[in-house]
Amino acid sequence: PAEPELEALQHADVAELLPVPRAESDKYRRGVVGIAAGSARYPGAAVLAVAGALRGGAGAVRYVGPAGDAVIARFPETLVSDQGPKHAGRVQAWVTGPGAGDDAATVGEVLAAEVPVLVDADGLRLADAAVVRARRAPTLMTPHAGEAAALLGVERREVEGARLAAARELAGRYGATVLLKGSTTLVADPGGGAVRVNPTGTSWLATAGSGDVLSGLAGSLLAAGLSAVDAGSVGAYLHGLAGRLAADGAPVGAHDVADAVPEAWRNVL
Ligand code: AMP
Ligand code: MG
Repeated sequence: PAEPELEALQHADVAELLPVPRAESDKYRRGVVGIAAGSARYPGAAVLAVAGALRGGAGAVRYVGPAGDAVIARFPETLVSDQGPKHAGRVQAWVTGPGAGDDAATVGEVLAAEVPVLVDADGLRLADAAVVRARRAPTLMTPHAGEAAALLGVERREVEGARLAAARELAGRYGATVLLKGSTTLVADPGGGAVRVNPTGTSWLATAGSGDVLSGLAGSLLAAGLSAVDAGSVGAYLHGLAGRLAADGAPVGAHDVADAVPEAWRNVL
């Protein structure tokens, strides 16, 4: 029989993949995630990505960029620096792009790192396809339909009408794992195979900053050692569940979704 094209994410599989620290773990073994995001114009994107990252299971979150004061004011446990990613200390995975504006230099520096990288939002536009393809460590790209359309050079409605094909096409072109966000989120690996579908989303997640929380959350899972496809899948699953728990039938802000990630995690266990 033909291989199935789509594979729904199962609760039990997500539970197995959650990075629960062992007795002998320390913060470095749990993983350090670097967030290179935000700008003077969009400091909130940095704060929301850090919010997601702190709930994703990494041992520490390092922030580099111009929004360090805003990040520290909200999350005093963050290690902040106003120098570029290449001057950062130890980092096991990077997140770049949310609120990055036109900061191509930061995105380029992050892509040069030899650790897994999640690229979202403005970073998708700023990332050179040849550079991404040449990376040896995994890359996880997290576009919504509009961003995916811009990368593919087609209209948004073309992506909306053929989401599976669009995710696969992007994964192939960039040699990267692609998490295509939307009412159903898809995760496609560059090598082909079944595309994962996340069943937990809710339309209450259609709110500004929601994707920034997901990028930090999935980045943290990458730093904890999950593969790109697992980090994207588990991140989307927890994010969707957190959205449902936070909203419970009423409107929420993206920061509420981040705050509900621990409750989502407990629901999965
Ligand atoms: P962004 O557009 O980058 O802020 O990301 C939006 C987030 O909300 C993604 O995780 C989407 O999958 C999710 N989302 C947006 N609209 C919906 C929807 N109608 N149903 C479920 N999830 C959604
Ligand atoms: Mg976004």
